[in-house]
Amino acid sequence: EGWDTGGGAKPDGSSEKAGLAPILSHIEALRALGCRLLRFAVPDIAAAERLGELASQTPVPLVADIHFDYRIALRCLDFPIAKLRINPGNIGGEDRVRSVLEKAAEKNRPVRIGVNGGSLPRDLRDLAHASMPDALVAAAERELALFERYGFSNVVVSMKASSVEHTVAAARLFRKKHALPLHIGVTEAGPLIAGVVRNTAALGRLLEDGIGDTVRVSLSSTMEHEIIAAREILALFADDKGIRLISCPRCGRATFDTHAFTERWQTRLYTLRKNISVAVMGCVVNGPGEAREADLGVSGAGGKALLFRHGERVRTVDIDAVDAAFEEELEKL
Ligand code: SF4
Repeated sequence: EGWDTGGGAKPDGSSEKAGLAPILSHIEALRALGCRLLRFAVPDIAAAERLGELASQTPVPLVADIHFDYRIALRCLDFPIAKLRINPGNIGGEDRVRSVLEKAAEKNRPVRIGVNGGSLPRDLRDLAHASMPDALVAAAERELALFERYGFSNVVVSMKASSVEHTVAAARLFRKKHALPLHIGVTEAGPLIAGVVRNTAALGRLLEDGIGDTVRVSLSSTMEHEIIAAREILALFADDKGIRLISCPRCGRATFDTHAFTERWQTRLYTLRKNISVAVMGCVVNGPGEAREADLGVSGAGGKALLFRHGERVRTVDIDAVDAAFEEELEKL
């Protein structure tokens, strides 16, 4: 999730069309990496038109994220988007929310109520100071009451905070009271390393509780990093299998640069639809042992690299030939 359709949008329709190809190809690359749902910020009507074109050309479900202007939500619903995310409290009066819900019901599209600790209604701020989880749940319930009044039940709820503890507590509290689908994630989780740690702590606890129907790992980093991090979290806590990459930290004994190798191969490996383990090791201290346990292993050994497949040593190659040899052995798996 978390892409902006507005960037590069041109008022001239033909230019916008010309700009779709690279976006579609990026969407395809993200899908190959494991992205199953892609959310776009839709800041204006031009972005809604652009999202609509994308939605009709990609199999990846696209979510329209709308703030402030209900007319953008209405326009998005003219297209085959998968879901709307709105913060009902900021798109105007109840009549406007109602018109969005009526159209979503008519088109059979789910709507996510996205509550965020940073944009709670003014009258819930005192409660937020006392208990942020209670305030997040109260804000979601307020919106749900409005949805119920209009008979709209095709709803997903998220209550995000930048604090791990608040995110976890709010989702647990909400789950005790409601059986609705929950989208979970830590909002504004920080840069790559801090963000991965915080997301893992929060999502891990919730997923172990069986809470969470969709997840987003939010990072001040690339979407590719978000997807890889989400996959690792799902593999650990939701039994969502896939590639397992084992690599040593490298030390003074290394005769093979594991950092550079994993950097070169990481994205490619995560696009494989295989439940396999791959070990990348720097030297013979732990290299052969670990590599033998993996489906595919490579280890430095003096000036050479050893390759293992399903526990068998299959090749010994010069270091500068290791990528080509690894590619061939990968193909054989
Ligand atoms: Fe160092 Fe070798 Fe262990 Fe890698 S496998 S950390 S290079 S001792």
